[in-house]
Amino acid sequence: MLSSSLTLSRRRVLLAGLATYLLPFIGRTHAAATQMMLTQVAPGIYMRRGLDADAAPQNDNAIANIGFAVGTTAVAIIDPGGCLADGERLRTAVRATSTLPIRYVIMSHAHPDHIFGAGAFIADQPTFIGHYRLPEALARRGTYYQHGLDSILGPERAGPVVPPTTLVHDNLELDLGGRILVLTAHGVAHTDSDLSIFDPQTRTLLPADLLFVERIPSLDGSLRGWLKELGTLKTVDAHYAVPGHGPIKVRWPDAAIDEERYFGVLLRETRQAVSRGVGIDKAVATVGRSERERWKLFDDYNGHNVTQAYKELEWE
Ligand SMILES: [Zn+2]
Repeated sequence: MLSSSLTLSRRRVLLAGLATYLLPFIGRTHAAATQMMLTQVAPGIYMRRGLDADAAPQNDNAIANIGFAVGTTAVAIIDPGGCLADGERLRTAVRATSTLPIRYVIMSHAHPDHIFGAGAFIADQPTFIGHYRLPEALARRGTYYQHGLDSILGPERAGPVVPPTTLVHDNLELDLGGRILVLTAHGVAHTDSDLSIFDPQTRTLLPADLLFVERIPSLDGSLRGWLKELGTLKTVDAHYAVPGHGPIKVRWPDAAIDEERYFGVLLRETRQAVSRGVGIDKAVATVGRSERERWKLFDDYNGHNVTQAYKELEWE
């Protein structure tokens, strides 16, 4: 827990033309968990780049790109973080940037690296917003995720499972004062409960884990569905996007090229394996190999992705 007695100092660093805040926190023990560097990816939109790693005791599961958007009357959290402490650091960073009320906490999907920081914002009494299928996903997996995180990070370090209080069925507009965020509920893709966010004012798209850059995507929904939703997202009139994992600001829709290519390979080669009667174990060992040098954490996730794709495609 961060307490109010912690000393917070702030210095601003200009990095590649982007305003960046470095927020060091005194009193924490792990190097990766001792700072939250925020990049202002567009006027009033601040994001923290997640680590290219999986949850580990020393990183507080701070592996997703998370942040917040500021209007003239309110702040919206754009994924609250990977555990309670990650969310608390994000909240402290918000308070160092704006005194406006934190009115919304947007939870892009059910994966723990994006939403387990939600408990840090309960006292702000915000509206917690999720896809209409998020409550069911959390009911099914929330406790499992919580126990899994506790076993990695330490007892009770995960934080509570916080269900959304407002659901998005198609689209929802959030008015932050002088800034409207447009939320879209997607079909089954990365997961079965993916939200994307578009800020028309700055033409910034925040597709969360519908977009991975440099780090290999992880498939927990539908390969064909994800390709379809990616096609829809490519038509959004955005100049830049903030992926759920990878560099904090990328050109849009150019940044979708790698992910689309990988999914194309996965789809084609898995279909071939199925049609030729290749078993799932052999498919896992052979499909997608041409992509191996193109992605971080390839060996950790490609096999899982092939398994998911195989199960989806063997019945088509
Ligand atoms: Zn995810």
